[in-house]
Amino acid sequence: HLDRIGEVDREVHAFLTLNGEDALAAARQVDSALAAGQAPASPIAGVPLALKDVMATRDLVTTCGSKTLENWVPPYDATVTRKLREAGVPILGKTNMDEFAMGSSTENSAFGPTRNPWDHTRIPGGSGGGSSASLAAFEAPLAIGTDTGGSIRQPGAVTGTVGVKPTYGGVSRYGLVAFSSSLDQAGPCARTVLDAALLHEVIAGYDPLDSTSIDAPVPPVLAAAREGLNGDLKGIKVGVVREFSGDGYQAGVQRSFEAAVGQLRALGAEVVEVSCPNFVYALPAYYLIAPSEASSNLARFDAMRYGLRVSDDGSHSAEEVMSLTREAGFGPEVKRRIMLGTYALSSGYYDAYYGSAQKVRTLITRDFEAAFEKVDVLVSPTTPTTAFKIGERVDDPMAMYLADLCTIPSNLAGNAAMSVPSGLSDEDGLPVGLQIMAPALADDRLYRVGAAYE
Ligand code: GLN
Repeated sequence: HLDRIGEVDREVHAFLTLNGEDALAAARQVDSALAAGQAPASPIAGVPLALKDVMATRDLVTTCGSKTLENWVPPYDATVTRKLREAGVPILGKTNMDEFAMGSSTENSAFGPTRNPWDHTRIPGGSGGGSSASLAAFEAPLAIGTDTGGSIRQPGAVTGTVGVKPTYGGVSRYGLVAFSSSLDQAGPCARTVLDAALLHEVIAGYDPLDSTSIDAPVPPVLAAAREGLNGDLKGIKVGVVREFSGDGYQAGVQRSFEAAVGQLRALGAEVVEVSCPNFVYALPAYYLIAPSEASSNLARFDAMRYGLRVSDDGSHSAEEVMSLTREAGFGPEVKRRIMLGTYALSSGYYDAYYGSAQKVRTLITRDFEAAFEKVDVLVSPTTPTTAFKIGERVDDPMAMYLADLCTIPSNLAGNAAMSVPSGLSDEDGLPVGLQIMAPALADDRLYRVGAAYE
């Protein structure tokens, strides 16, 4: 994999930092343990992985795609990082991402965009474009992403790979640099559903270091993936979300989705149409809640405690240093979110914006609850379009935000959701993703249906 990275990554730019020596040392350790007759630390011991650069790694820079953290080496490992190391998984390097995970194309990275391996003129999705591109380019067989509004699933869809957002609280957020704490969730990225399940079981589980971590057994995702591979979905009820079709959905995406639904039926699933009327308000609610939490979380980058510090020559006050550093360190999208969030949280506007958005969030959760009384899983296209051209949406934040139309409801409700490859669009020949959504703590249903479908 390191050789492959050497061949293609100058062009793809999936990685920000490489960790070759350390990865080889970890692999050798697995080899010697096996040679000494010891059992492997996990089923994926020795299988290398690409880690999104939002996950803290001791002794390895963690930039979050930002100038602010360009040289920051965390003094500790994230829980996900620690679990990977303990499982004998060699970490190949840290992957490119939109700055602080804000974006849908990886173009908001301070270190230049990642290219989609299927077509180098197109985006690989975002914010975790580097992780998904590394899989599609065969630079890594496994990767870690984080999904606040779709950043695992949307890059998975547009690169023809698998991406899973586990139930909120299913994977520890300790050491995941916070964007929107009530929505952020780390999860597995892979080329097959079975591979994702193997990785899921390694990273999931209760963590006392994360106050929102769920103290319950990890859903049996590996067993469910294995069961799904039998290709039998008899007894499973699938709901097609009526609201996720029509205007704004490419014809090629729509046709791929209809074919996917037909295939689920052919595998024995019972398919019904379901209405979730409040899902159309998910995007505006998200773009109040996520920036509000971000404006608070990003206050820690104050030029004093860690990270970038400019104009520190004694001629400026501490306050000037803070403001000059934030001006220099944050890109335009991050500044936009901080301003939106600060405005939405300000007194006099709090109830009208943040308060209303939280109410919408409750209504969306209720839509899911009503739907899951009737069906086991819901399905939709993962994204309304295939990969767009690099540069096409950079000057139009609203167009960029639309990429997450179908993925955001699961974040707002804290549910589990997956994107699984659904073939190529007959319009442009680019990958399309099928989204499968399940109730909280029923992540195993995603794997059962996803493995049967893929
Ligand atoms: N694209 C969405 C945003 O810009 C989601 C990002 C994410 O899931 N991290 O906020």
